[in-house]
Amino acid sequence: MLKKKTSLILTAIIRLVLLFSSSVYAYVPLKTGYLSPSIRFAPQPSQYESALISAAAFWNAASTKVYISRDANADNTVIMGNLSDTQIFGSYTPQFLDRHGQASQFQIWINQTAVVNQTTLGKDFWNVAQSIFAHELGHALHIGDLRSGDVLMNQLRDRNKIVKPQPDDINGVNAYVYPKQ
Ligand SMILES: [Zn+2]
Repeated sequence: MLKKKTSLILTAIIRLVLLFSSSVYAYVPLKTGYLSPSIRFAPQPSQYESALISAAAFWNAASTKVYISRDANADNTVIMGNLSDTQIFGSYTPQFLDRHGQASQFQIWINQTAVVNQTTLGKDFWNVAQSIFAHELGHALHIGDLRSGDVLMNQLRDRNKIVKPQPDDINGVNAYVYPKQ
């Protein structure tokens, strides 16, 4: 009898743990995101801008207040260039921080060398480029890097497969973005 009770209690505890672990968030806030949910960016060069526009469209389609668009005259620049360090896929650099620590301008780099290296592993150039840009946009949207999970903000994700924001990324943006407004 006691044994049965104990096992019932154990089962209840295991269920509770599973319930909480499945609803636990992974996203982390990033203070230095951009100061507005409306983001315009200028791609340099324009050669690969269709991949960038696709990545922006993924965010625009997500359930957020975010609207990201290409504008050749925008102050925020997105540069597709060659960095010698092939371990770096991309970077987000906040510029001109406001009094809340939010960026009033930013620069994103996408390392073409790293993208090309991925294609030698059988991965698709456009998928990888979109994944990198969508990830860096996540930083502009106030979410930081993770080291695990099937999420866009995981630095170790398969960039051929995870090319757009996942539910956890979207929750992170909705929870933390533009906290001072
Ligand atoms: Zn990152």
